[in-house]
Amino acid sequence: DPLNPKDVFIAVKTTKKYHRSRLELLLQTWGSQAKEQTYIFTDGEDSELRKRAGGVNIINTNCSAAHTRQALCCKMSVEYDKFIESQKKWFCHVDDDNYVILPSLLRLLSSYHPSQDVYLGRPSLDHPIEAAERVKSDGSVSVKFWFATGGAGFCISRGLALKMSPWASLGNFISTAEKIRLPDDCTIGYIIEALLEVRLAHTYLFHSHLENLQKLPTDTVLDQVTLSYGGFENRRNVVAVGGPFTLAEDPSRFKSIHCLLYPDTDWCLAGNPG
Ligand code: UDP
Ligand code: MN
Repeated sequence: DPLNPKDVFIAVKTTKKYHRSRLELLLQTWGSQAKEQTYIFTDGEDSELRKRAGGVNIINTNCSAAHTRQALCCKMSVEYDKFIESQKKWFCHVDDDNYVILPSLLRLLSSYHPSQDVYLGRPSLDHPIEAAERVKSDGSVSVKFWFATGGAGFCISRGLALKMSPWASLGNFISTAEKIRLPDDCTIGYIIEALLEVRLAHTYLFHSHLENLQKLPTDTVLDQVTLSYGGFENRRNVVAVGGPFTLAEDPSRFKSIHCLLYPDTDWCLAGNPG
């Protein structure tokens, strides 16, 4: 079954200090191709961002702008509630330093059914994490479960998301995360694998800057579902692609990737979008 792009909800987690840098790049590139399905979850009002966003949805979560478990889980909890409200078929979460290759994402999701239990993403570790079970029992026993790295993005079918509701909806996500004392992406894995006994479908098409992105073969880059960038300071960790922009003009490589995917974009022909 071909999947309608409108059926996908793409939640982007961001924070006010990245509105100018990361969000600008995101809106200029993949966000411009997925306006109605992209939802930006931030922590501060910014009328400039709203103007630049065009049709992209901006949600001020009113969560704290601190990089704490509580603040990040607060955002994930609002992402979940907004997805449920949206009636869309697939929930995908990404960070603001991810590039989402929409044709690949649609291809991947169309091989599953949204009413089935589907949790797709890149395993964070090469083994399951072990945590004290403090939701179903008193913490004296431990549970092992896999979880998808939030920084590479992950997707959940609507059918599965609805089953997560007792532990994820209306602020319950924050109390679940507090009970097991783990970050937002681990908590998602805990609810799905440990509480609902649904397995993570391991996919290596999602990428974060925790891996060595240079190693990704150039001829496979456009087949991936998400990409990222990191480490401008010392050693750059970016994907190896050609395209119209030099490393100096396009340090993240996102503009170059965008032009390889959408060569008709006006600024791809004219040069730097500025
Ligand atoms: N982030 C956030 N609040 C903060 C810091 C970061 O919501 O105080 C978001 C950020 O926008 C990004 C994600 O958390 O989507 C990961 O942040 P970052 O890339 O800076 O860190 P790392 O990938 O190294 O964990
Ligand atoms: Mn990051």
